[in-house]
Amino acid sequence: MGEKEISVSFDELNRMEVYCPKCSTGILLDFLAEKFFLPTDCSACGANLPDHICTAMNSYRHFFQNAKDSKARLKFRIKDHS
Ligand SMILES: [Zn+2]
Repeated sequence: MGEKEISVSFDELNRMEVYCPKCSTGILLDFLAEKFFLPTDCSACGANLPDHICTAMNSYRHFFQNAKDSKARLKFRIKDHS
């Protein structure tokens, strides 16, 4: 098992998967989707997503949009442990 560092351009981080704390279903968000909306509940079990998860999704969405609009050149260095 090796470890390597991956450099990811910020523009490629428009997709995020949030997991329902009740049933663990992944909810895929694409901040560049034409009809994007922030979910408030899980589409699989119907549970309301907790406020702290909604706040985190909304905060990331604003960060993504602001950085994208500013045309900032950002890269993230991510360790791959596979
Ligand atoms: Zn669920």
